[in-house]
Amino acid sequence: RAKAAGRGVFRVFEADMDRRLRERRVLQQDLRSAMLRKELMLYYQPQALVSGEIIGFEALARWRHAVHGMVSPSKFIPLAEESGLIIPIGEWILREACREAASWANPIQIAVNLSPVQFRHGNLPALVHTILLETGLNPGRLELEITEGVLFDDFSRASSILRRLKTLGVKIAMDDFGTGYSSLSYLQSFPFDKIKIDQSFVAKLKNTPQSGAIIRAIVGLGRGLSMNIVAEGVETSAQLDFLRAEDCNAVQGYLVGRPYPIERYASKIGRHESAASTRRPALRATR
Ligand code: C2E
Ligand code: MG
Ligand code: MG
Ligand code: MG
Repeated sequence: RAKAAGRGVFRVFEADMDRRLRERRVLQQDLRSAMLRKELMLYYQPQALVSGEIIGFEALARWRHAVHGMVSPSKFIPLAEESGLIIPIGEWILREACREAASWANPIQIAVNLSPVQFRHGNLPALVHTILLETGLNPGRLELEITEGVLFDDFSRASSILRRLKTLGVKIAMDDFGTGYSSLSYLQSFPFDKIKIDQSFVAKLKNTPQSGAIIRAIVGLGRGLSMNIVAEGVETSAQLDFLRAEDCNAVQGYLVGRPYPIERYASKIGRHESAASTRRPALRATR
């Protein structure tokens, strides 16, 4: 009986795996045409000093799928990485985010996430350079977010690419800090401008005193290395109070603002009139 039941469970499991594999293949094919169909878009989430002043936005990719609705980047970015599509998609994201930020009257930071795959293929510094020239964005306003996985792949190659990027004048942030391999030694071999404390530590603040100790340690580390510290996933004013007291520089999270299409934050960015008019001729004509 148990055996038969076990086989049954296995069969269900197999069917489930099959379905999920099929689903993934279909989604991967859809992703190929998503760019052509203009289904990819960027949302923007503000980053603020603990005093409340907005210092920049992070661009977060969204896929508005014709059938499935909004597909999360945690679902489609891995698909794009497996298929190599992350190269053209990542290039589009970078260009779109820089073009957008270049149109703001308020010259604040624009942060863009990079995939480890973008470090392995092509010439990332050359691409960034081209896009900066193309869009006219001040290099100092661009902040590239990488994860520890980038360094783990091939440390010497990755750090040489990071150095070349720094030469362009862009900033480099270490994203999701504390969740990866976290051998701290890399922090002394590469001068990150910013460390982003992973949101899991912030989320556990209330119930797990240990996460407070970890945040305190990361802030101390960042201070000692002259890096800015941003806490991710800040949702409550209690969390903000703790981070402020611990001398964290900045915060990002639903408390400051959710990721939205940039129009939602129009008053925060200001927009050069000329840029706005070249971007939306149709709107102007109807006004
Ligand atoms: P990330 O770069 O660490 O981005 C932060 C994620 O936390 C975002 O999820 C954001 O919506 C979410 N978040 C922000 N504030 C809060 C909060 O207060 N509470 C909670 N629970 N969540 C919050 P999102 O947009 O779903 O992106 C997930 C991940 O996908 C990103 O993590 C990043 O690793 C990746 N990703 C997103 N856009 C891109 C992209 O353009 N390129 C690449 N390579 N990866 C991207
Ligand atoms: Mg990020
Ligand atoms: Mg993060
Ligand atoms: Mg993340």
